[in-house]
Amino acid sequence: MGGIMTSSAEVPTRTDVLIVGAGPAGLALAASLRQLSVDHVLIDRTTSVQPGSKAAAVQPRTLEYLDRIGVADALVKIGVRSPGFSLHDCEKTLLRASFTDLDTPFPFVLLVSQQTTEECLLDRLLDLGGTVHRDHRFIDFTDDFPGVSATVAGPDGVLRAISARYLVGCDGVRSGVRANAGIEFPGTARESRFTIADIRLSTVAEELIAQDTTFFLSGAGMLLFSPLADGQYRVVSPAPPGMSEPTQHDVQMLLAERGPLSGQATVTEVVRASTYRVQERVAETFRKGPVFLVGDAAHTHSPAGAQGMNTGIQDAGNLAWKLHTVLTGAAGNELLDSYHAERHPIATAMVGFTATFAKLASVRDPLGARLRNDVLAAAAGTLGVTDWIAAKLSELDVSYAQGPAGRLRIGDRVPPTAVPGSDLTWTLATPDLQEIQGLPADVTVRHIPGLDTALLVRPDGYLAASGAPTELLTHLPIA
Ligand SMILES: Cc1cc2nc3c(=O)[nH]c(=O)nc-3n(C[C@H](O)[C@H](O)[C@H](O)COP(=O)(O)OP(=O)(O)OC[C@H]3O[C@@H](n4cnc5c(N)ncnc54)[C@H](O)[C@@H]3O)c2cc1C
Repeated sequence: MGGIMTSSAEVPTRTDVLIVGAGPAGLALAASLRQLSVDHVLIDRTTSVQPGSKAAAVQPRTLEYLDRIGVADALVKIGVRSPGFSLHDCEKTLLRASFTDLDTPFPFVLLVSQQTTEECLLDRLLDLGGTVHRDHRFIDFTDDFPGVSATVAGPDGVLRAISARYLVGCDGVRSGVRANAGIEFPGTARESRFTIADIRLSTVAEELIAQDTTFFLSGAGMLLFSPLADGQYRVVSPAPPGMSEPTQHDVQMLLAERGPLSGQATVTEVVRASTYRVQERVAETFRKGPVFLVGDAAHTHSPAGAQGMNTGIQDAGNLAWKLHTVLTGAAGNELLDSYHAERHPIATAMVGFTATFAKLASVRDPLGARLRNDVLAAAAGTLGVTDWIAAKLSELDVSYAQGPAGRLRIGDRVPPTAVPGSDLTWTLATPDLQEIQGLPADVTVRHIPGLDTALLVRPDGYLAASGAPTELLTHLPIA
């Protein structure tokens, strides 16, 4: 894998798209742009992929996109497939949402370290002939109509100017691009800290090897427990006061007090552990002229729902084909406004969802906790509730459609089980075998018997239009 990789090439002084930050969002964007043959430069201030676990869960919707850019297979080979999500009150299951019946080629949450995800993305980028200019730090930018002129410090400390039509900040929660663009990042920072630890155990109780991602809601505080690849387990829990670098003893205590292991297994190794403070923020805009924000630079929230990295990779998927379309002259600059219009509400809803979840999980007073647990247990028995939770967590419910849900609407995700994805091209799915005149080369035609009508699917897997095939062609932004 391409863990340590610093491009020896001199960073170009001019590009169509300058991407700052080679975390999961920046790497996904660069690999997508490379696949679309869009000229870009990707810089990162670090000298290699950073070790560590952070985001451990890759959701089905993200895997569907990663499949389009040729990364899913490699990742799925390495990760652990988690079939469901459970909420427990000590040993008692309150609610379980199963992923196995989800309408997707990836009916599981893939548990794998963020480092591995980044390495797979990097490998794909390198295979495609792309690169990361490492040890290059974004300093600031000035307007250079219609684009920007960015100042970057190279490994030798020398400042260089890069002129770019578009600048994309994938530079994480403390984004310098966002600050430099003067984009506000409103929200809150919680007082409390969370502990996160990747551990090994001596023996594990049978039911825990079931591989569900499990939340334990105890009077002492909530605790998330999930398997990881390589025989490790992930533990996340609010940090007791004074705990900064959790030790083996600390994690054992958390598991015994809040989790599944009241004396049943011993923590034999803490592979890595840290504490961090949760923030809940969404940038006021994801686009300001030629500047875009993607990933944590645009939104950050509690990792309780394991959505942060996933949302960032999907931001990248939304923006990549739009940049390609506009840069090839097939659509006007205004197409890029739809990046904010589509992704900002998704991020805002995600922050709200994870905040509510984190609040529910942290109810401590015994009466309130009992009430919560009763409500959750009752909800589990209510038709459709666990399916709704599975759709939400898997992000398969992400839609840009307006109006009430029902039949497939413009902006809804088209499941690849119905219309298989085809890298980053547009797909025209038709129920009838017919020759379609005037079809541009970068449209994949699929004959799918049984469809009510022909469907035009965007490169990121959402419905662009439906109707007669010849009519659909008028919706194609083709140069
Ligand atoms: C403990 C923890 C657990 C988490 N668990 C999950 C989970 O289970 N599921 C999930 O989906 N998410 C999870 N997350 C969130 C996830 O880690 C982030 O959402 C994800 O890393 C964001 O990716 P990104 O590419 O947007 O930003 P980052 O990963 O922060 O990458 C930003 C990149 O920009 C570079 N950079 C920054 N400034 C500059 C500069 N000035 N010049 C050049 N380069 C720069 C950095 O070096 C870095 O490589 C977790 C986070 C934490 C902290």
